[in-house]
Amino acid sequence: MTDCVFCKIVEGSLPTEKVAETDRLLAFRDISPAAPTHVLIIPKEHVADSVADLEPGHDELLGELFRLAARIADEEKLDAGWRVVTNVGPAAGQTVFHAHFHLMGGWARPQP
Ligand code: AMP
Ligand code: ZN
Repeated sequence: MTDCVFCKIVEGSLPTEKVAETDRLLAFRDISPAAPTHVLIIPKEHVADSVADLEPGHDELLGELFRLAARIADEEKLDAGWRVVTNVGPAAGQTVFHAHFHLMGGWARPQP
């Protein structure tokens, strides 16, 4: 058993709206969207609590993650622009300590 919300989503013990999946990555809709399109992309394995703890062995996984972000942006028709954000630590707003990236877009106007 794990206390990690995102590990529970990967295990299937918490429901989610899946957007995309690869062998190593899962993308699903944020439960509390901060943009018209707001998708979270996570490594299925709890490789780090945040990106601050990533290691050289994770480089390939990160490359794959950004390619998946671009693929999802294409599928979600975010052609006007999109953003990838990752928070590290509570002061930055991190609330789930399983490394993850927010893919956001779908705005009508440029964002500050
Ligand atoms: P962060 O604040 O950067 O740690 O991002 C965590 C994100 O996870 C927040 O935007 C939450 O809305 C989102 N979140 C928390 N629990 C769930 C869940 N069960 N399903 C989908 N998104 C979630
Ligand atoms: Zn986890």
